Amino acid sequence: MEKLVSLCKRRGFLFQSSEIYGGLNGFWDYGPLGVELKRNIKNAWWQDMVTGHDELAIPAGAPTTYEMTGLDCTIIMHPQVWKCSGHFDLFCDMMVDCKETKKLYRFDQLRGRWVSAQGKKVRLQPKVISEGVQQIQGDEIERLFVTSLAEAEEEAGDLQRRALKAFNLRAKDAEVLEWHESVMTLDKLDSLECVFAPEANSVGTLNGPREFKLMFPTTIGALAGEEGRAFLRPETAQGIFVNFKNVLDSTRVKIPFGIAQIGKSFRNEITPRNFTFRSREFEQMEIEFFCHPEESRKWYEYWRDRRMQWYTDLGLAGERLRLREHDKDELSHYSVGTADIEYAFPFLSEGEYGELEGIAHRGDFDLRSHMEGKLVKNAKGCLEVELGEDGKPKYRGSGRDLQYRDEVTNDRFTPHVIEPSAGADRGALAFLCEAYTEDSAPDDKGQMQTRVVMKFHPRIAPIKAAVFPLVKKDGMPEVAQEIYRALKKRFPAFYDEKGAVGRRYRRQDEAGTPYCITVDGQSLTDNTVTIRDRDTLEQWRVKVDDVVEEVSDRVS
Ligand code: ATP
Repeated sequence: MEKLVSLCKRRGFLFQSSEIYGGLNGFWDYGPLGVELKRNIKNAWWQDMVTGHDELAIPAGAPTTYEMTGLDCTIIMHPQVWKCSGHFDLFCDMMVDCKETKKLYRFDQLRGRWVSAQGKKVRLQPKVISEGVQQIQGDEIERLFVTSLAEAEEEAGDLQRRALKAFNLRAKDAEVLEWHESVMTLDKLDSLECVFAPEANSVGTLNGPREFKLMFPTTIGALAGEEGRAFLRPETAQGIFVNFKNVLDSTRVKIPFGIAQIGKSFRNEITPRNFTFRSREFEQMEIEFFCHPEESRKWYEYWRDRRMQWYTDLGLAGERLRLREHDKDELSHYSVGTADIEYAFPFLSEGEYGELEGIAHRGDFDLRSHMEGKLVKNAKGCLEVELGEDGKPKYRGSGRDLQYRDEVTNDRFTPHVIEPSAGADRGALAFLCEAYTEDSAPDDKGQMQTRVVMKFHPRIAPIKAAVFPLVKKDGMPEVAQEIYRALKKRFPAFYDEKGAVGRRYRRQDEAGTPYCITVDGQSLTDNTVTIRDRDTLEQWRVKVDDVVEEVSDRVS
């Protein structure tokens, strides 16, 4: 992972936001290559899901034909949207905070392990026994729970270092440490009393757990207090639900149909980490697919498999990608079925996977919430409007009719929703991880050297082809520039005439450029050039006039 992170910075895929001011945790900028990669992912998604969708034919695995359309909604919406959707009350994580360092940690994510040191004792922070009464000296314990923020490979080493620090031991005394049970997250513990927090100097400094709201608040205009308070959207989905009627009334779409949207979302994550995996500002690619309740299970299965296939087709094949159906107890209160598409990111421990996309069967929860008001499950397991202390709806819905009337049968119903919700940044990160390859290739002298190559699928590769004159003379640059200009009309191409040609190949390998075209001495006599394949290193000659077609065919 370290190598990938450094390549991303060195070659301009990703930079830390506001880096010259020390950076801002949880915010990332896409550099010149990164912006092309991410845009290609979003374009591929939009093309495959929306514009390229054929509503006249039944796609493989789909129950019937269906229509697809798009939207682009605002980031700030009416605050009532979030009250009715449940985000205002429920969108939070449990967190703990450290009295000593003032740092916050996710209760369900901070990992650690029980350790003792052959009877050696550690003194805890003095406790507050009752209101206003505090211990003078903390209790002594022999077994403590050391924690670490380190990523997979460094975790064991960091836990050892922290344990030695807690027991005031030196590195050479490591064998004194006795480890108990396996590594676990804080939420598995009965109490936080014996926890040695990641950046603390004493043991027992954690408070909590308590709720931490994830929505970013903001203020609209000059209105003070509650009246001007709004939120940056934590997901793009709600913009689609509140526009459901507008889309129906302004187009001729009929159920089943889907509305797609790509856009920024914001979550005030407690511990943004793992590169861009958990960011505070990120982009989502979401579809809300509206169907008849009786058909919804079939559509859920269709979308689950369709979305999995999409990642596979773009090169995330193999055992690092998996589809995981949620157990019943993992499902949201309104969901009949949910599956996650997950990827074994290299920063995770062996056997662990991170979510790339969730495909949820959401029933009629969202449309009903925006009609009736915030819903909760009653004792019988049915959804009903949540009431406030005054017996009135806690958060009123819009009161608008968001039902659908089937023109043929005259049947009126609230459509069920299938939601494939993907993260463009997590997608980009997975494609970067999958592409990173080290192999060997001959240098200019024919000697085999280790090379780093980003094996992106041609559709998402930032640059599709690079053109080089072998030397900067004898008319080679002129021929190469003409080819370069012709390629640029079709897709991003790169021209390079500086340095040894082997070095130029190497730079394009690191950028993930699938094809390099070289104009050499022979080109000037027979009007042919070489095309080199990034992955196989195979080279073949092609007539200058055929280069554009040949490369276009291969990258499309
Ligand atoms: P997680 O459990 O990892 O926090 P989630 O289940 O809350 O994710 P969803 O609400 O289902 O995520 O959001 C849909 C998609 O949006 C996720 O699959 C992911 O790709 C992306 N996403 C969500 N949160 C973040 C984030 N903080 N940074 C980057 N992408 C995110």
